[in-house]
Amino acid sequence: MAADLPSLETLASINADGSRNFIHTADVRGRFTTLRTAVGWILIAIYALLPWIKINGNPAVLLDVREGQYHILGLTFVSQDVWLAFFLITGAGFALFFATALWGRVWCGWACPQTVFLEHIYRRIERWTEGDATARRRLDMAPWAANKVIRRGIKWAAFLFVSLLIAHVFLSYFVPLPELYHMVRGAPARHWGLFLFAAALTGTVFFDFAWFREQFCIILCPYGRLQSVLVDDDSVVIGYDTRRGEPRGKVGAVGAGDCIDCHRCIHVCPTGIDIRQGLQMECVSCSNCIDACDAIMRRLGRATGLIRYDSVNALAGRPTRLLRPRIILYTILGLIGAAAAAFAFSGFQSTTISALRMTGAPYYVADGVIRNQFLIRIVNKENRARAFVVKAAAPGQPISQNGLDKPVEIPPLEEELEPLILTIPASGFKGAFQVEVEFRDTTGQFRTTRKLPFLGPEKHAAADTR
Ligand code: SF4
Ligand code: SF4
Repeated sequence: MAADLPSLETLASINADGSRNFIHTADVRGRFTTLRTAVGWILIAIYALLPWIKINGNPAVLLDVREGQYHILGLTFVSQDVWLAFFLITGAGFALFFATALWGRVWCGWACPQTVFLEHIYRRIERWTEGDATARRRLDMAPWAANKVIRRGIKWAAFLFVSLLIAHVFLSYFVPLPELYHMVRGAPARHWGLFLFAAALTGTVFFDFAWFREQFCIILCPYGRLQSVLVDDDSVVIGYDTRRGEPRGKVGAVGAGDCIDCHRCIHVCPTGIDIRQGLQMECVSCSNCIDACDAIMRRLGRATGLIRYDSVNALAGRPTRLLRPRIILYTILGLIGAAAAAFAFSGFQSTTISALRMTGAPYYVADGVIRNQFLIRIVNKENRARAFVVKAAAPGQPISQNGLDKPVEIPPLEEELEPLILTIPASGFKGAFQVEVEFRDTTGQFRTTRKLPFLGPEKHAAADTR
C-alpha cells in the first residue's frame, strides 16, 4: 500500500512499476467477523461433506462424468437429462443477480469459496506462522536468514497440504469416493491422468491462495467485473457515511466529523482500498471495515455505523427504494424461470425409456408375416436392481411380440438395450396402425406407455419383397 491513501486510479495490489504489492490485512474483531467466521466454517464443512453424505444410497453430490451419472441431492440424472442442468445453472446465476441487486456483493464477502478458504484457512495459517500484519510486513523485508526460512517453509508446507486437501475434495465431486481412495493409495503410474490432474489442481489452488489472492476477485472473476451493472444506488452495500464522517480530523479537532482518519478501515481491507472514497469495484463486501471502524467509534464513545451496510441513497440522506424496475423485472423473470423449471422437473422420472425403429427398412415381409423391428432402451436411474415388463398391444390387430417377453432385470444405475420384434400375418394387414407398448416395473411403482406405428406395404405381397 502506498504511504498516502489508496488511489481510485490504481490497484493497491500493484506497485507503480507493475510489481506485486502483497497486501497484509490487519486482524479485526467484531460482530460481522464472528458471524462470517461461523458461516465460513459451516460452508467449509458443507463443501467437504457433500460427497460423503448419502441420500437415497448415493452421494449428496457426485457428477460422475465418465459414467454419465449425476447425483444431486437424492436425484439421479443420466446424460440424457443434462438439459435439466440448464435450469439449475441459470437459476443459480439468476438468484445471484437478484441477491446482488438487493444486497450488493454479499456472495463475495460471505459465501464465495475464494473468500471462505482464503480468510478462514490460509490467512489463519499465515497468522500462526508469521504473526500479525506488521510482523508479516517486516518478514517480507527481512533477508533470507534462518527465521524467515523456517517460518516461510512451515507456512508453505501447510499451504501445500491444505491445497492438496482442497484439490481432493474438489475431485470427490467428480470421482466416487472408493475409487478416489483407491487411486490415492495406488501408484501414480496406475492412473497417470488423474494423478497429473490432481497435481495441477493442487498447484493452481496453492498459487491462488498463497500468492494471487485478492487479484482473483479484482482481475479474473467475471461476477466481480459485472458489479457496476448489477447494483444501483438502492442496493444495500458497504459504505461510509460522508455526511457524518467529514470533515475528518483528529480527536478534539474543532469542526471535525466523526472520522478521525486513523486508516484502520484501510489496514483491515483485504483489497487495500479506502471505502471512504466511495463504493469501488475492488470492494468484496467482507465487512472488515465495519467491524474495524465500529471498534474505533466505541472506544471514542461515538455511535457505531460510520461505515455500515446501507444503500448509497440512504448514506446520502435520500430515501431507499426496495421496489424498483430491476427488482420487479428480476422477480417476474425469476417466477417465469421457476415455473419453467418446476414443469421440467415434474416430468423427471427415475427411469428413462426410449423406443426407436431399428435402422434399415421400416418393415419386412417374409414367410407370410409383416415384421416391424424396434430397439428398446431402458435406463434404471435408481440405486437398486429393478425388473421391467414390456407388453405390446393393438386392439383388433393380430399382433405378436417377440423379444422382451420375459421381465428384464436391470442392475442399479445401469441400462439395457433390447430388440422388440412385432409381427402380424400379412393377410391381416389393413394399413398402418398404432401399437401401444406398456413399460412397468415389477413393483408397480413405475408405468408408462409409448405408441409405436406399425408399418407395412400398402398392398402386401405374399413373398419376400424387401
Ligand atoms: S476506521 Fe473509521 S474513523 Fe478510522 S479512518 Fe476509517 S472511517 Fe475513519
Ligand atoms: S472496503 Fe470494507 S467491505 Fe470492502 S473489501 Fe475493503 S474491508 Fe471489505
